[in-house]
Amino acid sequence: MLDIKVTRNKHPKAKPGKDEPLGFGTLFTDHMFVMDYDEGQGWHDARIVPYENLSLSPACSVLHYGLEVFEGLKAYKAVDGRVLLFRPDRNGKRMFDSCERLCMAPVPVEDFVQAVKALVEIDKDWIPTGEGCSLYIRPFVIAVDPYLGVGKSSHHQFIIILSPSGLYYPEGLKPVGIWIEDEYVRAVRGGIGAAKTGGNYAASILAQDLANKGGYSQVLWLDGVERKYVEEVGAMNIFFKIDGKVVTPMLQGSILPGITRATVIELCKDMGYEVEERKVSAQELADAHEAGKLEEIWGTGTAAIISAVGRLKWGDNVMIINNNEVGPLSQKLYDTITGIQTGKIEDKKGWTLEVC
Ligand SMILES: *Cc1c(COP(=O)(O)O)cnc(C)c1O
Repeated sequence: MLDIKVTRNKHPKAKPGKDEPLGFGTLFTDHMFVMDYDEGQGWHDARIVPYENLSLSPACSVLHYGLEVFEGLKAYKAVDGRVLLFRPDRNGKRMFDSCERLCMAPVPVEDFVQAVKALVEIDKDWIPTGEGCSLYIRPFVIAVDPYLGVGKSSHHQFIIILSPSGLYYPEGLKPVGIWIEDEYVRAVRGGIGAAKTGGNYAASILAQDLANKGGYSQVLWLDGVERKYVEEVGAMNIFFKIDGKVVTPMLQGSILPGITRATVIELCKDMGYEVEERKVSAQELADAHEAGKLEEIWGTGTAAIISAVGRLKWGDNVMIINNNEVGPLSQKLYDTITGIQTGKIEDKKGWTLEVC
């Protein structure tokens, strides 16, 4: 158990009005969680303090070598007034694994969950209650050694900030267009693709920008070796419904192991679908589309939960999926997951954790 020292913010900010659009990740609450790590001493000084800028050495490793890992999860105000988290232990475990991959001090999973709960409880009045709204939680670990030498770092900070966020797609669950990226690569096996770390995003911004300029909202990455098999989308894993079966690329080191991905696989199996985790080539998708068997495509991630894909571009081939409408399985998964998260649907899986 962490002993968390709390310093209340004496100048709380005005909270956004009920009808103000929240957007995503621009507004922050009154407090943040901070804990330090020093080699020899371990993690120490767990504290909740007023939200403020950090003070760091300009030489510190996070700024030069990208030594950082992060997580993303949400707190929801349930229909009965309880505050719920969704599978936070999974985020804790993934952050632990990401830290180990980057040779950073891992935070014990139970400390991660305790810190998230404590901070959310203090700022619970910031949880927006509108349809699809939630409190986005961003835990991260940074290496703060004040040296330019490249190597394993011995000083870290674990920080959590909170941001009230609105519906990811304010216009509703409208399908997006994505293109298969065949020039740039996000990650290769043996690299850091399976860790949730900023470096993977640094590798992805250029391709993302080109896709946006071309009228597509995201890129679908191909594997970095053969450039044949699809891997995942910007910050989402990808699913296909092909001829009645649910298919998703297997995890093999270059794909981020999404918690929403794991949730969707389990729910689809419960619904009686055959779910295949395997290699999926771009050619297979084109062939399935040609044969009229590519029934639905959707992305999965904490931010949007389910994001239906209505257009898939591969070279000159623009495939329209399900008439550019949200498919029935995509909609059902969205309704089921958001229903469990907000307590509208009974949680038979033990996926939700009550904060207060
Ligand atoms: C966070 C993330 C996902 C989605 O993971 P969830 O746990 O479902 O939110 C997928 N891909 C990448 C690259 C990510 O960073």
